[in-house]
Amino acid sequence: MAAVDMTVPVDAVAEATLIEQEEAAIERIKRAREILGDEVVILGHHYQRDEVVQFADFAGDSYQLSQEGAKVKAKYIVFAGVHFMAESADILGRDDQVVILPNMKAGCSMADMANLEQVLTAWAELEDVLMADPEQQIMPITYINSAANLKAFVGEHGGTVCTSSNAEGALKWAFDRREKVFFFPDQHLGRNTGKAMGIPVEQMVLWDPFQPYGGLTDEQILNARIILWKGHCSVHQQFRPEHVDLWRKHHPDINIIVHPECMMEVVDMADYVGSTAYIGKMIAAAEPGSKWAIGTEIHMVNRLKNQYPDKMVQLLSPFACLCSTMYRISPLDLANVLENLVEGRVINQVSVPDDVKQKAKLALDRMLSIPK
Ligand code: SF4
Repeated sequence: MAAVDMTVPVDAVAEATLIEQEEAAIERIKRAREILGDEVVILGHHYQRDEVVQFADFAGDSYQLSQEGAKVKAKYIVFAGVHFMAESADILGRDDQVVILPNMKAGCSMADMANLEQVLTAWAELEDVLMADPEQQIMPITYINSAANLKAFVGEHGGTVCTSSNAEGALKWAFDRREKVFFFPDQHLGRNTGKAMGIPVEQMVLWDPFQPYGGLTDEQILNARIILWKGHCSVHQQFRPEHVDLWRKHHPDINIIVHPECMMEVVDMADYVGSTAYIGKMIAAAEPGSKWAIGTEIHMVNRLKNQYPDKMVQLLSPFACLCSTMYRISPLDLANVLENLVEGRVINQVSVPDDVKQKAKLALDRMLSIPK
């Protein structure tokens, strides 16, 4: 029996094995893709790892991926993203299409911060305070980072879905129709967008789903223009005002660009604010030699850094702001679902029930029809 080298830590051995397996998975993906040809389209979110997103036929933000997903002709859509994105692709896709998520544990902690039961309770309480049909007064808007049954709730109540690309258009659309907006689950996107549109911060109140009536008084609800759900993105929450101060102290000429899921204090200090698609375009168009500190997920920032070595591109935070759920999709997962398709087996299908799908589609179709 071979002697075990006790000087090599067990973790290092496991890591080396994983790297080898992932390298082999890259070749397995290439082979499977060749066999599957046009039958499969892979969609990839900007926050995915390079080893995965390199196989995407189309890479983009949630809005672009929804648009692209609705146009896909292939029978199988493999979604390298998180669960709510795959659900949206299933809602917008044809009945004969199959949507596959390479790892079913790839969820979104923000989406998990609002569930249907909580939203139904909130709606009933708002109805109680407004003492009238809330549909006359409040427009529900859900961020695309939410479960399909919340999109269905919104669709059923005349509202829309929004993404970080079109949140302002969605709010304008809502205020053209009703007095107030009930916005969930991301308080920061709602607040930052409302503020940019000139809505005073005092008129945007925070609804805590764990307190009766959201922890708000009748007066606060009656005076509010936007009722914001108490949810957030655990990744973007990590960017702090002191990080902006630190970069500016050492590089007074640096540009700070952040995603609107960051807290208002950070967004207020930034030079530019926008979706991942916007951030990507801004860095691409920037002057060589320009300096950028970016407040969004680390994989996207590192990709931009590698793509544009003639510019200084850094993560805004000194800590790695990683979306651990996006990271769950590995090349091994992608190889696994594709090889199963080659064998004629569908695994990890994301399928939204028909009744939910129809109502959620109303909300997603409205989203796609609202000008950005
Ligand atoms: S970055 Fe935040 S909002 Fe986006 S998928 Fe990850 S946890 Fe969800």
